[in-house]
Parts: sequence; C-alpha cells; structure tokens
Amino acid sequence: MVTPANDNDNEKSAEAAEQTGKPCPICARPGLRAYRPFCSRRCADVDLGRWLSGTYAVPAAPDPDDEDEFPHEPRDRE
Ligand SMILES: [Zn+2]
Repeated sequence: MVTPANDNDNEKSAEAAEQTGKPCPICARPGLRAYRPFCSRRCADVDLGRWLSGTYAVPAAPDPDDEDEFPHEPRDRE
C-alpha cells in the first residue's frame, strides 16, 4: 500500500539513525532509513493508524469486471 518497492536493504539495520534525505510525511522531520519514509516508528504507527481509522478513506470504486452474472467472453484462451 504505502510501502515503497525498493526496500530490499531494509533488513540490514546498520545505522538506524541514517537519514533518508526526505522529510517525514507525518512530522516533517528528517526521515530515517529504518523507518522510511518516516522519522520514527511512532510516525509510522501514526500513518498506519490513519489508514486503519479511515483518514485516508479510499472511495470504494465498483469494479466494472465484477459482474460474474454475465458469461465471460473467451478473451485470453491459451
Ligand atoms: Zn516523523
């Protein structure tokens, strides 16, 4: 969801205080690699909490392909 795809070096926590060079989206302090894009675990939790509480409410767009009542045309036959 919010996790960037390029976090493959996330496991090696050599220096948790290493900055990402980008401000924390929560408090605008310098973000740390260990918690990127946030500056701390706390801010990450805040962001997560916003998601869970619906602050980032995503409009439930109906999927146009969700109509299983109609027979599907053989688009991809292999
Ligand atoms: Zn922060």
